[in-house]
Amino acid sequence: MTPSFRHLARESVDRARAELASGDRARLKFAALELRMAIESVTYERAQSYRDEIPQAEYRTWQPKKVMQLLVDIEPRADKGGIIAYGIEEVPGVAAKEMTSLGAEQVFGLRAIKAHYDALGSYLHMPTLKQLEDVGQPDLAKLHDRCLTIIGLLDGVLSSPVFNINFGSFSSIECMNPDCRKTVRRRIPTGQSALSAACLDCGMDYKLSVDADGQCVWRPVLEEVPCPGPSCEVVFKILPGELKAGRRLVCHACGGRFQIGLALFSDEASAVADPATQVQGTP
Ligand SMILES: [Zn+2]
Ligand SMILES: [Zn+2]
Repeated sequence: MTPSFRHLARESVDRARAELASGDRARLKFAALELRMAIESVTYERAQSYRDEIPQAEYRTWQPKKVMQLLVDIEPRADKGGIIAYGIEEVPGVAAKEMTSLGAEQVFGLRAIKAHYDALGSYLHMPTLKQLEDVGQPDLAKLHDRCLTIIGLLDGVLSSPVFNINFGSFSSIECMNPDCRKTVRRRIPTGQSALSAACLDCGMDYKLSVDADGQCVWRPVLEEVPCPGPSCEVVFKILPGELKAGRRLVCHACGGRFQIGLALFSDEASAVADPATQVQGTP
């Protein structure tokens, strides 16, 4: 079960507040640690609303800066707040004159993460001898002020009446890889007409073009293999998933019939250069 990151963030902020209130300078580092965890929690929570668009390999990413950058790459407004309001259009397509707001959302965005996350981390290690020589002991008064600033920002994020606003236009197809056939979905940012997408299950790549009416055309990125027929200029376009030994091809131009197979080529030059990678064959 996925944890409630919002709840965990609130708990971390409460503990950080208690550490600051203790007045014990030696406990400031615990406040810094709790606030780092709170920043991680609110960022992971944000990422959850984009989970269908995040490649599996990226799930190992844990630094908030990288996670948020990933979200911004998917949707440029991912680290911005917003207001949700609704109203009845008197004329279809023309914004309603009267709008009712459901509330505003505050996000702990990329700029705040860059400003504070690493700075907190610098207080969680013993200063090196060089740091002690260059700048002396860590400035705990500065850390105290920074913690208060971050708590203020996180309070805003955690008290937002609406959160994880994530609107977008999407286009989806069934993956063209015959061994996959899962749904591939792509967010279509406004004003972009040429996009790329990849199937999160099998990795097959696609190019998308969006016309003026917002209609999407998906084209798979195919492997190009020149026909081996004598003086034939045909280039076979093959789905990456179909490029495997045993697959048969017939060229309609030269009439040649071919079969994809594995081949072994002489590797004398690189074997001499890199003997460590040699694999011995059995006699
Ligand atoms: Zn696929
Ligand atoms: Zn041919």
